[in-house]
Amino acid sequence: MQRSGQFLVQSTPAGSTFTPEDFDAETRMIGKSAEDFVRHEVLPRLEEIEQAKEGLMRELDRKMGELGFTAAEVPTHYGGLDLPKTTVALIVEKLGPEPATCLTLQAHAGLAILPLVLEGTPEQKARYLPKLASGEWCGSFCLSETGSGSDALAMKTRAVPDGDGYRLTGEKMWVTNAGFADLFTVFAKLNGEQFTAFLVERTFPGVSLGREERKIGLHGSSTRRVVFENVFVPKENLLGEVGKAHYIALNTLNLGRYKMAASALGTGKYALEVATRYAKDRHQFGQPIANFGLIRQKLAEMTTQLFALESMLYRTGALMQEWFEPIHALPPDHPELHLRYREAASEYAGECAMLKFFGTEVQYFCADEGVQIHGGYGYTEDFPIAKIFRESRVPRIYEGTNEINRLNLTQHLIRQMQRAGLPLIEESRARESRPIDTLPDKSLEMLATLVEGFRQATLYAFRLAWEAYGDHLREQRQEVAAAIADMTTMLYGLDSIVARLPKLQGTASDAGLLAGLLFARYATQVMRDRADLVLNALNAPAESHRLMERMLPLPRFNAVEARNQLAQFVLMRDGYPYGV
Ligand SMILES: Cc1cc2nc3c(=O)[nH]c(=O)nc-3n(C[C@H](O)[C@H](O)[C@H](O)COP(=O)(O)OP(=O)(O)OC[C@H]3O[C@@H](n4cnc5c(N)ncnc54)[C@H](O)[C@@H]3O)c2cc1C
Repeated sequence: MQRSGQFLVQSTPAGSTFTPEDFDAETRMIGKSAEDFVRHEVLPRLEEIEQAKEGLMRELDRKMGELGFTAAEVPTHYGGLDLPKTTVALIVEKLGPEPATCLTLQAHAGLAILPLVLEGTPEQKARYLPKLASGEWCGSFCLSETGSGSDALAMKTRAVPDGDGYRLTGEKMWVTNAGFADLFTVFAKLNGEQFTAFLVERTFPGVSLGREERKIGLHGSSTRRVVFENVFVPKENLLGEVGKAHYIALNTLNLGRYKMAASALGTGKYALEVATRYAKDRHQFGQPIANFGLIRQKLAEMTTQLFALESMLYRTGALMQEWFEPIHALPPDHPELHLRYREAASEYAGECAMLKFFGTEVQYFCADEGVQIHGGYGYTEDFPIAKIFRESRVPRIYEGTNEINRLNLTQHLIRQMQRAGLPLIEESRARESRPIDTLPDKSLEMLATLVEGFRQATLYAFRLAWEAYGDHLREQRQEVAAAIADMTTMLYGLDSIVARLPKLQGTASDAGLLAGLLFARYATQVMRDRADLVLNALNAPAESHRLMERMLPLPRFNAVEARNQLAQFVLMRDGYPYGV
């Protein structure tokens, strides 16, 4: 089992990462069933979804139950499919063209089901998981409150012991699926102090709902307050350990963030698809706008970002799966099951945070450029890109804002260094004496060398920040911590692309190299910007700036021509030119 963060300290052999090209026929069929569902049963009902037609989203959720999507992460012992994390991501990605439906699934199959899978007792699992897995029941995750979002631990919801159970009082905000959920996973402070989770059925006396929130987008997704007024919760519905609900909340969110990147990928690809079709159809100055260099540039840049995201996403899914796989062999009543799940779900917390902020920003970029390609028509509800644009804003906010997730990533690296022995400082020192300086001319060699330069630069920035702030980096210099998170992300992105390239065949191979070069160019600019920010914030001497420059040479190639060629592949394929 590979530890998180290895890409920072050792090079990745070409072809060694899991990529979509590795999906077998059976997995592709699962992906196809999700794609068919969204294209044939969901997108034709967009108008009703937008109007939040009573009962419709619950109906779609049930259908996703029949298709097995809600059972994807449930152990087979409890009626689930226990699919690999890569397959789970593929299902979510394929639902991406309709974000409200996709979010409904994620809240049900992820946020509601995973707390039970990770920390439930065998009795709790037997009672609730089969119903949730089949879609007979739907679930919700109740963490946020009016006064506590990012600072979730400041919550006011309270539980007190009462006879054979507890009394729960408080109000949860922003609860996805609240309108039709049968089960709420509720986080509260037991006796005002101990952060603890409870399984609360919709029918327990004292549970009530607020009105639907009036959101910018995701109109089909139910988002309401849930009020708990002195609700009696039997003691067997306390989930996990008293005072240790942070394991439940954080680990559920880690896995949720991974899947948010999958939905971002699916929505982003859909934005590219509709923008490509529009660019071919729309004529100005006597020709399709797809002929214009500035439109082709947009299509190529959208593709490049999506290609990086896809390469990072499935690589991470397979790495996480290595940690989950051995758990399948354990009996359902194994006394350490929850501890093994904790390990598995937290190991890649940093990569999950990274995927969440990078993925949702790629989604937003694609939606925004998609509108631009549509011109004025993109600003009307007559074209699907308008809805995609509205729905691409909030993913940067929920499941931990992107600011918080940037801080989480850098904090995770510190933790991996301290607890898992990730040799970040040692590797930085070892690499400092041999900055890459120049880049070879041949494209593949150039990319591989640049990955090493990114590694050197990220480690160097991390080391200087660590020497200046140590454990207090997150609190004392957020901007530096976030810049290091961005550098780490660019490294992981380019590293994942370069490792993937040998797996691509035919035209996808040519298109892959173009995207690799274009991502390298973009990422080098980001790296240089963030490195400069870190060095200046730390008052680093001029020699540190010079060293950093030697680690980050700008790749030189004809980017205009590369974009043009990549756009041509996109136009030929009517959208994203790789993947399954
Ligand atoms: C449509 C929708 C669905 C949702 N579904 C659910 C759900 O099902 N269950 C659930 O529990 N919650 C849900 N949420 C809540 C969501 O997770 C929170 O909105 C999110 O965590 C941010 O909290 P907040 O809105 O209170 O913002 P705040 O925490 O108040 O943040 C406001 C701003 O301050 C920044 N900020 C806050 N703290 C820091 C810091 N320490 N350093 C730097 N910047 C900081 C944030 O990044 C943000 O830009 C949902 C929200 C929405 C909009």
